[in-house]
Amino acid sequence: STLAACGVVSDGNSKNSANSGSGGNAKDDKIVIGLSLDTLKEERWQKDRDLFSAKVQELGGEVKVLAANGDDAVQMSQAEQLISQGVDVLVVVAHNAEATAPIVEKAHKEGIKVIAYDRLINNADVDYYISFDNVRVGELQAQAVTEAAPKGNIVYIGGADTDNNAHMFKEGAMNVLKPLVDKGDIKIVYDQFSKDWKPEEALKNMENALTANNNDIQGVVAANDGTAGGVVQALTAQGMDGKIPVSGQDADLAGVQRIAEGKQLMTVYKPINLIATTAAEMAVSAAKGEEVKADKTVNNGKIDVPSVLLDPIAVNKDNLDVVIKDGFHKLEEVYKNVP
Ligand code: BGC
Repeated sequence: STLAACGVVSDGNSKNSANSGSGGNAKDDKIVIGLSLDTLKEERWQKDRDLFSAKVQELGGEVKVLAANGDDAVQMSQAEQLISQGVDVLVVVAHNAEATAPIVEKAHKEGIKVIAYDRLINNADVDYYISFDNVRVGELQAQAVTEAAPKGNIVYIGGADTDNNAHMFKEGAMNVLKPLVDKGDIKIVYDQFSKDWKPEEALKNMENALTANNNDIQGVVAANDGTAGGVVQALTAQGMDGKIPVSGQDADLAGVQRIAEGKQLMTVYKPINLIATTAAEMAVSAAKGEEVKADKTVNNGKIDVPSVLLDPIAVNKDNLDVVIKDGFHKLEEVYKNVP
């Protein structure tokens, strides 16, 4: 997008990304928001960054972005960098729900409010949290898979153990799966997190699940489209792709293409424009000392964090047009591999 080319937006990988700028932002009155990202690997985070930055700019502010490549220590030092540059508000997508807590303390010492973006920071005085209803995400995934595979052996391929969301997705999935296990309809024959949400970890997990069960598997709840990609790869190697339902999340282009091709049952679409622009409004309001609208609370082990939780949308081959109408993907891209 053209927005990505804006001077204030960086991918966090260039050396001058946070050091550039006017110098001493705290002194001029332009609002500066720091955005500390875990990663830019999954497609969605680039959209989050670009849409968030664009909205803050529209509201008269500027954004400094740094991305930590999945490294806790790097995220910590990048956050410190943003704090020392005098950002007005710090917005954090935590790689690690626990390890990020000291960032909140450090920001507060400088009078900087912290917004947890998409992922909660645990055991810290987080000022605000904005995300989707992540338990609901897991419920939507497991509901779709068990509607397509109401009986038999089900595999759960989770996300990163370090990400609070991965636990909420799993909680939601289990809300749906457990009663079916108790009824004797299904069995959960494999259940593992995938380190750092890596597709190759999910691939290994799925290979193990297949081997351990002699390929006798009827459905797979995969926590996002990245992990679903690993799962489908493992199924393909066994000639099982398209034969059993697999869930996902994010409406990644590769994910919706697999849905169009019949290799993935569904994804959970989370309108990134909505979370990014709402978060930008919250951040700018907080920077101005105005009241920030947050109608819910989520407990993070320490406090009830004032929260905004948005609705996720289940998408399968019958309503794929949702992501096209929303401008998330182009029709010709979605159906590129469909003859
Ligand atoms: C996000 C997902 C994303 C995953 C991996 C989660 O915290 O909610 O949208 O797929 O992280 O980046």
